[in-house]
Amino acid sequence: MLKINPTQLQSDLDALNQFGHNAATGGMNRVAYNEADMQARRWFDAQMRELGLTVRIDAAGNSIGTYAGSQNLPPIALGSHTDTVPEGGKYDGTLGVTAALACVRALKEANIRLQHPIEVINFTAEEATMGGGTFGSLAMAIGLPTGYADKPAWDGRPVHAHLSAAGIDPAGTRAAKRAVGSVAAYFELHIEQGGNLIGEGKDIGIVEGIVGIRRYLLAFDGDANHAGTTPMHLRNDALVKAAPIIHAVRDLALKHSIVATIGSMSVKPGASNVIPGRVDVVAEMRSLKGSVLDAAEHDLQNITESLGGSYARMSIKEEMICDEQLQQALVMACGELCLSHRYLPSGAGHDAMCMAAICPSVMLFVPSVGGISHSPKEFTSLEDCVNGANVMLGSLLHIDAQLS
Ligand SMILES: [Zn+2]
Repeated sequence: MLKINPTQLQSDLDALNQFGHNAATGGMNRVAYNEADMQARRWFDAQMRELGLTVRIDAAGNSIGTYAGSQNLPPIALGSHTDTVPEGGKYDGTLGVTAALACVRALKEANIRLQHPIEVINFTAEEATMGGGTFGSLAMAIGLPTGYADKPAWDGRPVHAHLSAAGIDPAGTRAAKRAVGSVAAYFELHIEQGGNLIGEGKDIGIVEGIVGIRRYLLAFDGDANHAGTTPMHLRNDALVKAAPIIHAVRDLALKHSIVATIGSMSVKPGASNVIPGRVDVVAEMRSLKGSVLDAAEHDLQNITESLGGSYARMSIKEEMICDEQLQQALVMACGELCLSHRYLPSGAGHDAMCMAAICPSVMLFVPSVGGISHSPKEFTSLEDCVNGANVMLGSLLHIDAQLS
């Protein structure tokens, strides 16, 4: 059975992680378009060229390396990203692109040409540093929202300033958009960033989909007044009005089997000697099932209004469901490699979420020790990294045969 080269994968991971490495903390600092990020991207492009891939950089800055196929078919793409959050880890994104390269290397060294061309994609600015996440895959598969270039990036400078410095024309990113059906399938290997696999001793996570995310602004009005001179029975305290919503959101999550969080609450005017006159609560709900979110949303509105608050939807990110045929191919490869697996949703966004708009897409996860990510402590054993890459390779062979 065809397998990737573990030593080479480790050495590629090590080489990439020299860029942006903070020796004092162990953290990775390849924040999109900083010097380390650009150096890492060019290093990765060079590795792809060395392997004989044809490399192009699209109008959004994504690097795409193509290993030619034997038939005139749309490509099967394998990808992820090399940028990190500030003080991030060594595996988030990095594993996906180095494993993609390892799969093509295994094919090349065994002199195997698949029917489909294989693309290795290193997406640009996946982390939410450019006024939102998945910048490169959004440009490739969906299109960037109007006004995106004027949004503040992570450091407060506008996004267009970062893009221009990286040689990307902010007005020209539309040219990166690919048509629906122009890619045959998309695979993304990623670390789990949670504790399910490691907790259960499972080797591989077959991702069923990426959860939909909905955020709401719940506002409660009262009357700000002196905290010393206003008797208790004469108060209209906005925070007291809002208080039950905290338990209500938790109960609503349990009732609908979703996750829901109040992660932000602002009390105005916010002084210790003033009765709160206004409380703004941001509630968030996530689930793979849109219909369940609809029902939970309905409950949230009723509860908020019954407490005397007002309800408004702030944002909605649709859930993404992974392609069933691709999931089956992953399961088959797990069986062939005698690796255990379980199905699970992804609670975080990834490039696959965008790619699903133009082609069947799937993700597979490998265990994260301690469930930790976006931290210098992020760790996945080489054995697990190799397992993930081998499952991706095995399923790629199945899909190449099935889709032709
Ligand atoms: Zn990632």
